[in-house]
Amino acid sequence: MLTRRDFLRSAAMLVAAQAATLVPVPAAAQAPAPAKQAGQAPGFFRLAVGGVEVTALYDGAGQVRPEILHGADPARLAALLEDAGLDPKAGEPIAINAFLLNTGTNLVLVDAGGGTALGPRAGLLPGNLKAAGYAPEQITLILLTHMHPDHALGLMAPDGRPLFPGAVVRPAAAEAAYWLSDATLASAPEQRKASIQALRSLAAAYSALGKWKPFAPAEALAEGLAVEPLPGHTPGHCGFWVRSQGQSLLAFGDIVHSSAVQFAQPEVTIDFDVDQAQAKATRLALLPRLARESCWIAGSHLPFPGLGRVRARGKGYAWLPAPYTAPRG
Ligand SMILES: [Zn+2]
Repeated sequence: MLTRRDFLRSAAMLVAAQAATLVPVPAAAQAPAPAKQAGQAPGFFRLAVGGVEVTALYDGAGQVRPEILHGADPARLAALLEDAGLDPKAGEPIAINAFLLNTGTNLVLVDAGGGTALGPRAGLLPGNLKAAGYAPEQITLILLTHMHPDHALGLMAPDGRPLFPGAVVRPAAAEAAYWLSDATLASAPEQRKASIQALRSLAAAYSALGKWKPFAPAEALAEGLAVEPLPGHTPGHCGFWVRSQGQSLLAFGDIVHSSAVQFAQPEVTIDFDVDQAQAKATRLALLPRLARESCWIAGSHLPFPGLGRVRARGKGYAWLPAPYTAPRG
């Protein structure tokens, strides 16, 4: 029978035993943790759209500060940014994405990133293309949603030569005419002239290879691909439809820069829109179509990989990102 003294003695032993297990191991006896690792997973992500392999390629990042957004009062902008967990004073970090389409007959790149022209915030596309299993020389067609620096200047390698010598480069004719005109260069603010000059030299470099071929509005580009004119952000801004085996995807370029703000409030425009009213009208007309069709969307500045769908929510829209999957085979 357990006496009170026995009980107290065993309780004391138990406490002592527990205390012993809590004695810290001397620091010298602990193996150090391995060195911390820099870098990130390679920036590519694949999605099958019917029989077309779509690979999102991460080129870099930017920042949309709230003061460059127009069409909503500052309190509403701040509320939308806060709702997305963002600092309303700093705005929204955005990605620079390009999209590679392997149709089985063509290897097509939609936009080329900013290359080294934008400094350290861009220029990761070539490395991510390689990590995704492809080489620049294998690309046969490059479609440009528009000719802003973060979409077009990556056409050139750091040594000033065309990075994709085997590819025909195709902007919309209206886009090429606008950016390459003397009037655009003459009227550009001083700080933009260098990037316009860079566009002129890349157009000249691809022309010299016989590979600079602006497309007319109704022109067929390649099997399974079609143009969707989306003017406003720039005069010839457009999207590209991929249609295969009953599935569809629209690479819609710069229809949305701030996913936190412009899906909920699509009338909001951004400083970079060349024609603000037209950009707003184009977005307001496009988003309901995309929500109805429930097609895939590839967005140049949506959070990487920039692939997902939209659905109507309240008076605006919600962005539904593609979930991560790792297909085998
Ligand atoms: Zn852009």
